[in-house]
Amino acid sequence: MAVATMTLDQEINPWEAQSARFEFAARKLNLDEGLWKVLSSPAREIIVHFPVMMDNGKIEMFTGYRVQHSVARGPGKGGIRYAPDVSLDEVRALASWMTWKCAVVNIPFGGAKGGVICNPKAMSQGELERMTRRYTSEIIEFIGPEKDVPAPDMNTNEQTMAWIMDTYSMHMRQTVTSVVTGKPLNIGGSRGRREATGRGIKVICDESIRYLNMPREGCRVIIQGFGNVGSNAARLMKECGYKIIGIAEWDGGLFNPNGIDIHQLVEYKNRNNTILGFSGAEAMPSEELIESECEILVPAATENVITSRNADRIKARVVVEGANGPTTAVADDILSEKRIFVVPDILANAGGVTASYFEWVQDRQGYFWKEAIINEQLETILRDSFDDVVRYAEAHNVNNRIAAYMLAIDRVAFTIKQRGIYA
Ligand code: NAD
Repeated sequence: MAVATMTLDQEINPWEAQSARFEFAARKLNLDEGLWKVLSSPAREIIVHFPVMMDNGKIEMFTGYRVQHSVARGPGKGGIRYAPDVSLDEVRALASWMTWKCAVVNIPFGGAKGGVICNPKAMSQGELERMTRRYTSEIIEFIGPEKDVPAPDMNTNEQTMAWIMDTYSMHMRQTVTSVVTGKPLNIGGSRGRREATGRGIKVICDESIRYLNMPREGCRVIIQGFGNVGSNAARLMKECGYKIIGIAEWDGGLFNPNGIDIHQLVEYKNRNNTILGFSGAEAMPSEELIESECEILVPAATENVITSRNADRIKARVVVEGANGPTTAVADDILSEKRIFVVPDILANAGGVTASYFEWVQDRQGYFWKEAIINEQLETILRDSFDDVVRYAEAHNVNNRIAAYMLAIDRVAFTIKQRGIYA
């Protein structure tokens, strides 16, 4: 669909957002018509409706999805999300972004994603465990270390992965740690995985300011989302000299022009389950924070944060996408016109899947690496991938997002051509 003619509903539909970028990049690549058809829709979409016994003794029905966009370059890889607004289009988009992301950082995985429509904040641990185990059993023949390897995403965590690993292992009659990544350390998790996406954001910010000749000292950063990605990025960036002046959460934001003490804020959020009321910064509405002056803006919460409604008011020099799909295709054009340097999600937040790849390798080897090795290899992969993308963007005179899509589509299409079409 042409970006210029999109309605707001189409603009904020993640699958439309993905398709618009895919089509633009495929046209620029002069992609073979047949390969275009293969890559423009997911290879497999699983929808399951399943019952869960709730704490009050009543049965509730839940709907879950697992979408495998492509398994051409290796097993499907991608998180599982629990949220009330999960939809098939969202999971499709997230699955295809995983295909492109794994190809951008050149790791041997395809792209997949899963989700369950639920309100995890209103569910007990017991209900979450029963829902997770039943969802796992519903999709069990489609996942596995060589088929499709889930991981955490919004509202799922190490505990969720432990339940999935255990359920899968019970069915296989043996412990299979490599069926999921993002597990607890003592059951096959990897050192460094928890912070990996945030660490990757820091590396990408370092590379961006180096590329743009901007100093790190005093570099003002605003981060949206203070969950796994946002809080780890904030902590690691503060430790090496960035000034984190704003944090935006769903229930409000914080601003301190002299920099927020991130260690204290992490402790405060752990104690209070919110950042609101923290004494080391002033309260500021989240929408205002996103439009405030800073050098780097890191949207690390959710989709559709920078849209046609606010893109022209963004004042950051650099946008590093911690979340998946925070910028719509219409907003991309506005940011490009304003000459804002955008590092797209499929590169910027690839630290998580890269560390997941290390976890999968370690599980299969049964040999676990030191954290320093993991961090060093993660940083090398991200720096090299950043270089690949910006060089590609320069060579083809496109923005970083289209460059990343072109690079990824080219790699996946090449693999499909080499493998051939099974008759
Ligand atoms: P999370 O659940 O740990 O944290 C998300 C945070 O964002 C929470 O603190 C939540 O309160 C906040 N939030 C939600 N909606 C918001 C809104 N409208 N405005 C402001 N804040 C809001 O999730 P996460 O793992 O940190 O994931 C965040 C994003 O990063 C998602 O888009 C996810 O797909 C993406 N991502 C995560 C990983 C990973 O390794 N966890 C890897 C790659 C990409």
